Amino acid sequence: MAIQFLLSDGLPRRFAARSDIKVYFQDLVPERYLEEMPYDKITQVRRQTTQVKISDNLYIGSEHPIVVQSMTNTATDNIDASVAQVKALYLAGSAAVRLTVKDEAGAKAIPQIDQALKSEGFNIPLVGDFHYNGHLLLDKFPACAQALAKYRINPGNVGYGEKHDYNFDTIVKIAKANDKPIRIGVNWGSLDQDLLTEFMDLNSKGKLSRKFKELTTNSFVFEEINQELNYKEVMYLCMIESALRSAELAMQAGLSEDRIIVSTKMSELQDLINVYRLIARACKFPLHLGLTEAGTPIKGMIASSAALGILLQEGIGDTIRMSLTPGVGDPLNPLNDRTLEVRACQELLQALELVYYKPSVTSCPGCGRTSSTYFQLLAQEINEYILLSMNDWKLKYPGVEKLKIAVMGCIVNGPGESKHADIGISLPGDNEEPVAPVYINGELTQTLRGENISKEFKNILSEFIENKFSRYVRH
Ligand code: SF4
Repeated sequence: MAIQFLLSDGLPRRFAARSDIKVYFQDLVPERYLEEMPYDKITQVRRQTTQVKISDNLYIGSEHPIVVQSMTNTATDNIDASVAQVKALYLAGSAAVRLTVKDEAGAKAIPQIDQALKSEGFNIPLVGDFHYNGHLLLDKFPACAQALAKYRINPGNVGYGEKHDYNFDTIVKIAKANDKPIRIGVNWGSLDQDLLTEFMDLNSKGKLSRKFKELTTNSFVFEEINQELNYKEVMYLCMIESALRSAELAMQAGLSEDRIIVSTKMSELQDLINVYRLIARACKFPLHLGLTEAGTPIKGMIASSAALGILLQEGIGDTIRMSLTPGVGDPLNPLNDRTLEVRACQELLQALELVYYKPSVTSCPGCGRTSSTYFQLLAQEINEYILLSMNDWKLKYPGVEKLKIAVMGCIVNGPGESKHADIGISLPGDNEEPVAPVYINGELTQTLRGENISKEFKNILSEFIENKFSRYVRH
């Protein structure tokens, strides 16, 4: 077993010699976990998908970096407000921005929003979010159909019975005529009720258990299994069926496989993980991940990060969104800012080392050894400095986004953490000599003191970046 190997060969002798530790670790790690979760399953091997072109510069699929998306909350027919918010979301890092197209006024506004953005030099892929009347709006407003880069269709909200397929078919044909991709966005809050009834009926006859076993074991099952699934399991299968049946309908209507993205969003973390693990095995379409209705900022970011982090770590997910409920009140409070959902997605992707956006700052939480709030202030200032400089740095210093900076509060972990970073500073803790050693590439290079530590460290950081990442410097 892996733990025995580590203890006999991988750890220092003083640990290996202690047989009680071996027993302790063996008890702690159930063998079943190791058997069911071999190492290669928990690494980031990306699930292979088709590649979907959204615009000349934006593709979604396993051969491309994971894409952050977001959505406006302005009334789409309020053109100025919508343009301002699309721009803010895009500048924060949202590669595409979705807008609600709920009525004729909204559909009419889309080309105007697109034009206003283009006139300011912003070529931003706009995604139209349609429910109930997408077939009517896209048909009646061809300029809207043309201006949008992608259509999101919720198969639970395109009509019932025969109308469902007709309406869906209409949207897909317009997408094909305009060469636009679609996202089939299933949401458990608006799951196709006809389909759910059909599935509950099948389940009562034991007809879903074999399919469920095939998906959960990732293999064909030949024997009949006539057990009833629980309600959640039926729901997962129904969500997947709704997405894949719609994809099949879209392809029958003429849309090619590489024009389809799929999502099956749920609002409970465990459900989301379960349903995405299953649909990841059932198709090759790129997957749009998101915990729907994730909640207010802190709760929503934590729940979304936990759910999306697990799936992304397993290689599942090609584009992500965090559906946060922004706070109200002071517009300068970051928790009230719509762009928070974009920055949270970027932080998640960077923490997982899947996509790099900007230099990362490691800083300690501070404790009773911290002599003042100076190091907190410095960590905050360095983060702000990075945000302010990043647009410029991106052009001048390719690769700077992978830089690791440490800002630490005392000698306990300060020098060690600073040495592990590309550049780090360790501020003096309580009862320590009032000096701040700076480490570059693991070596102590200078020691700062006095009132201007922050300014001097920023200068050292700028010089380091210039030397390490400038296009004109030989490395
Ligand atoms: S580095 Fe020092 S100040 Fe920071 S948390 Fe650790 S012990 Fe406390």
